[in-house]
Amino acid sequence: MKYRDLQIQTQREAPNNARTEGFSFLVRAGYLTRENVPTKLGEYTIDHLHDLSKDSSFLFHLSLSTIGNENQTYFPIASGNIEVAHCPSCKYTERLELARFAKTPLPQEEELPLEKVLTPDCNTIESLANFLDVPKEKTAKALMYTRVSDGKFVFVVVRGDMQLSEAKLRSQVGDVRAATAEEIVSGGAVPGYASAVGLGKEALIVADDLVPASQNLVAGANEAGWHLKNTNYGIDYSAEIVADLVQAKEGDGCVECGNPLSVLSAIQLNDIENVLFALAETHHDDKGLTVPNPAAPFDVYLMHVPGKEMDTRTKAEEIYNSLQDAGISVLFDDRDERAGVKFNDADLIGCPVRVTVGEKGLKAGMVELKPRKVKENQLVLVSEIVEKIKSIYI
Ligand SMILES: [Zn+2]
Repeated sequence: MKYRDLQIQTQREAPNNARTEGFSFLVRAGYLTRENVPTKLGEYTIDHLHDLSKDSSFLFHLSLSTIGNENQTYFPIASGNIEVAHCPSCKYTERLELARFAKTPLPQEEELPLEKVLTPDCNTIESLANFLDVPKEKTAKALMYTRVSDGKFVFVVVRGDMQLSEAKLRSQVGDVRAATAEEIVSGGAVPGYASAVGLGKEALIVADDLVPASQNLVAGANEAGWHLKNTNYGIDYSAEIVADLVQAKEGDGCVECGNPLSVLSAIQLNDIENVLFALAETHHDDKGLTVPNPAAPFDVYLMHVPGKEMDTRTKAEEIYNSLQDAGISVLFDDRDERAGVKFNDADLIGCPVRVTVGEKGLKAGMVELKPRKVKENQLVLVSEIVEKIKSIYI
């Protein structure tokens, strides 16, 4: 491909909306617009990565620090749109809302009889725990939904110190939406003072698996202003479904090895544009991108330095053809620009090797070859350039 055909536009300055260096260099090197839309060069690169991705192991060859499980691969990055729970010890990785974790039941207690207590203005777990002077883990939190498929009232019970994962709930009962006040009342519960105690058969009761393991929890009395002390699963109510329903958080124990979990922002690498982003984030220096083979869109950045006596461009064109004939992909900077401008662009765009065709070298039958990650360049005979580049890649 020729530079001018791709209409490459590089930028000197980082875009002011750049949240990461990788994004900044993708814009500066002309792969993306500032609005995050792929340019011709970006589309060409994405197509190239699509071709590579036909080999299911291609992500392993890109030298990216990824995390994942057998189904998904993630690239951790602060600006990522997905939260992932990850165990640094055993590498267990799962989307946060579906991550399992080591749950610690409270010490076993003898079940005590129900006791109804007046709790004015205690319609949150915090206010209730404060008012009764009990820890939040000694309360039962109620969350109420309506199942989308059949309108069934779904009553969820989790321990008061836990957060429900709606993703885990959906995986148990199907799609749900928040119940309206009317649906809660017709389900037999009272908003703010709800519990599973005394609910009718029409409610589908779903409990987190920590609830049956916890005795004497404070729960709503289904009567405004009142709560029940000492509710016990199996005595005062039971559930149709008992399952893991709550969300892991930073520091919770890993379900596989018990060590503390980290929560990381990440992007998912099933999307090729995200792969390009991860490549740029991983492979750059202060001058631009340094994308390795085979991920780089071109093996070689070929350029000529306009000469005073010789037609360096025609010679570069010949080299361009012979490299391409040998199966080497080339980005030919065919502009009549100053050498410094072209060197800067070559560094920004980041092909693994730069070949420079200049008058001085040509007089000795040589061109300059410079790997992107190496400072020094070497002179190579024009007649040997194809073999030399092949030897670098193979
Ligand atoms: Zn672990």
